[in-house]
Amino acid sequence: MKKWGFLLLLLCLTFLYIKPFLESKEEMQHYELYKNDKVVDRKISGNLQKKEITEEQIYQGNLLLVNGEYPAHPKSIKSDIINLSTHNELIKGYGLLESEMYLSEDIARRFSEMTTAAEKEGVRNFCITSGFRDFEEQSVLYQEMGSAYALPAGYSEHNLGLSLDVGSTQMKMVDAPEGKWIEENAWKYGFILRYPKDKTTITGIQYEPWHIRYVGLPHSVIMEGKKFSLEEYLDFLKEQKSISTTMHGEKYEISYYPVTKDTTIHVPSNLRWEISGNNMDGVIVTVFPISTHANLKEVGMAE
Ligand SMILES: [Zn+2]
Repeated sequence: MKKWGFLLLLLCLTFLYIKPFLESKEEMQHYELYKNDKVVDRKISGNLQKKEITEEQIYQGNLLLVNGEYPAHPKSIKSDIINLSTHNELIKGYGLLESEMYLSEDIARRFSEMTTAAEKEGVRNFCITSGFRDFEEQSVLYQEMGSAYALPAGYSEHNLGLSLDVGSTQMKMVDAPEGKWIEENAWKYGFILRYPKDKTTITGIQYEPWHIRYVGLPHSVIMEGKKFSLEEYLDFLKEQKSISTTMHGEKYEISYYPVTKDTTIHVPSNLRWEISGNNMDGVIVTVFPISTHANLKEVGMAE
């Protein structure tokens, strides 16, 4: 008994000692957010409604995995691709390398929000060097530049409209403050550095400090907290089936469902949710807290 009391005291003292360090370090914040991760028994909060999932949905959404093993499906291309140079309101906080630069309008808006935030911190020389490429353009690039530079048509994330290459107008991205800022902050805005230095064996792609990919919140935050590549994150969801996480005191639920013909799942009727395929074998349902302003504002209650 005495021994336990002593151990408990020691534990308390240790906690009191390390607590200020946890609080003072910014990078510990997402650890704090995600230590609440827990597996739930696929119970989704609130009133439920049935939702039929078609096989096509495996190939649509922001969480698609596109790599050497899983090519992009023609149905995977974002439906809101625009030429950025004709949308001045969206090119705030960055420049364009070429006058014809295509990207999903939604992703462009989020990227602009991110670079505007960077500008407030004095990092302001961003430039998009490559956006959406259709299969034909990808094929030309592959033939002209070779496999060391480009991927064959359909195997590049650029074929989705969800990815972009970001440069600095001043220097190479690997040395630029813009590169450093992206590496440290992109996850807060729903973006991930898709090909990090320490994940080359998993992604099969060399370190690319310029290539960012949109996955959305809360996914980018979880991936940052757990140091997951997209491959690892999707495997994790499949393994766990359902996770819930709390961000800024609000709860998000994320569930994976394998999809075969005639798959029916349950989604809440009183909360906002989003469905994305994984481009492999199933879909991921994200249930958002009711008061997430950014989500309610832009998307409404359901898809
Ligand atoms: Zn790229």
